[in-house]
Amino acid sequence: MKLKTRLVISFCIIIVLPIALMCGILFGYYHLHVRTAQKTYGIEESQTIFNNSVLVMNQYTRSDYEEMAELAKTEPGTLVSEAYLKGKNQELIEKRSFLIVRKGDEIIFNGDVYVQEAQETGAQSNGDKQDADAVLPMTDEEWNSVLPAYGYGGGETGADGGYYLSGETQSLLKQIDFVTPDGQEASAFIVTSSSSVLPEVKQLIAEIVVLVVLVLGITAIAMTVWIYQSMTRPIRKLQKATQNIKEGNLDFTIESDSEDEIGELTRNFEEMRQRLKESTEERVRSEQENRVLISNIAHDLKTPITAVKGYAEGLVDGVADTPEKLNRYVTTIYNKANEMDRLINELTLYSNIDANRIPYNFDKINAKAYFDDCIEDIGIDLETQGIKLTYENAVDDDVQIIADPEQIMRVINNIISNGVKYMDKPYKLIGIRLKDVGDFVQIEIDDNGKGIALKDLPYIFDRFYRTDSSRNSKTGGSGIGLSIVKKIVEDHGGRIWATSKEGVGTTMYFVLRKYVDTVL
Ligand code: ADP
Repeated sequence: MKLKTRLVISFCIIIVLPIALMCGILFGYYHLHVRTAQKTYGIEESQTIFNNSVLVMNQYTRSDYEEMAELAKTEPGTLVSEAYLKGKNQELIEKRSFLIVRKGDEIIFNGDVYVQEAQETGAQSNGDKQDADAVLPMTDEEWNSVLPAYGYGGGETGADGGYYLSGETQSLLKQIDFVTPDGQEASAFIVTSSSSVLPEVKQLIAEIVVLVVLVLGITAIAMTVWIYQSMTRPIRKLQKATQNIKEGNLDFTIESDSEDEIGELTRNFEEMRQRLKESTEERVRSEQENRVLISNIAHDLKTPITAVKGYAEGLVDGVADTPEKLNRYVTTIYNKANEMDRLINELTLYSNIDANRIPYNFDKINAKAYFDDCIEDIGIDLETQGIKLTYENAVDDDVQIIADPEQIMRVINNIISNGVKYMDKPYKLIGIRLKDVGDFVQIEIDDNGKGIALKDLPYIFDRFYRTDSSRNSKTGGSGIGLSIVKKIVEDHGGRIWATSKEGVGTTMYFVLRKYVDTVL
């Protein structure tokens, strides 16, 4: 899973999960509190308990109201008995209400005073002041001024016999009118302060806030752990891998099936490790090749230098005492110097080839004329070495190729010099043929030398490759001649290959693309 998706999911979960949990919790709490309220206040209509606070207030004291209304009819004297009023008031206090009784114009019982007392003792015993704000510190006179007149409370208000007293008091009043045994009009009021409406709601809100914070906290922690774990494990793996690379150890693999960004990073890292390993191996190989080249060159230079030194000493010592001997000594020194020169040139060319710096001068040349001239020069040279050269040119007079004449000459010379170098027969033969093969001109150069073993044939164009037999022979060579030849032919857009039979001879083939004049 992609990190982005993971973050989106966790974000959604952080939002959705707490909402869902809160809904569940609220639902549970609602029912719990309704049940508690039902138990405490004897409320039946659980459906409306939180919907209509006036109704709720009304429900608080419904049974008390009914009881007192009944007494007003049957035993009105009880309603002025202090003992009864005190007892009832105490009951009402527990329901967040209190009792006021007015006889004529005088307040004969003010339960408000007991509310204050009860609140004070309650707050003290609880060690807090949670209900201190519910105190209604009103005197008898004040009550007298706000309470409705006798006979007012008979009507229904939609709140089951109660009505609301607005203004400072903010209370629900239930008025029970009665006539005292001594014939005076009196009213008992059950007062329920709106500030004390369902105090559990306050508690509920506080608990909900705590729960919201808790649920949010837990969800956030869970999501963070989920994302953190998905990131830390691969990061630790990558850390170990970088440590390995730092220590030069590239022989390990780091894998990841994960489709996220870190998985992609891990795969890229693995690719980088493989490339680094390849290039390190390549560097080691090339260093090894260079060492081989240096030792080959040192060996190949040593042979002619030893000869030059020997012949020069002979000259100094006066060993060459006849003009013929003198001539032979000087010629040998000259030939050996040439050999060294060729080797040094080969080395320079090799370093240029390695850096892709062969200076080509491509030109449009006539194939037939060019090869005729080349072979004429080579023929003279070979003749002096006692080698027979045969030459066939089957290419039309007008066939042209795009080539660097100097480099193609180098190719031919190199192949022929190998033919001469690896010649083991007394009757030495070199054959050159030119053929027209469609889009290409094919050049075939064969010799009747010692040939190349089948196992060596695929490698002779590799750098520094020398067959066992040529390594053990006295013929000089660095193993780079044919690799240069191959590079030059390929840089001309051609191809080179060889066939050979051990003890019989070798044939080298290469093709060069014909030049096609597109403008007719
Ligand atoms: P070298 O400097 O050793 O001649 P080359 O790259 O020119 O290097 O040739 C690679 C090897 O191929 C030689 O060492 C030799 O073993 C083999 N080889 C090339 N040409 C011939 C040939 N005409 N006859 C026999 N062996 C050959």
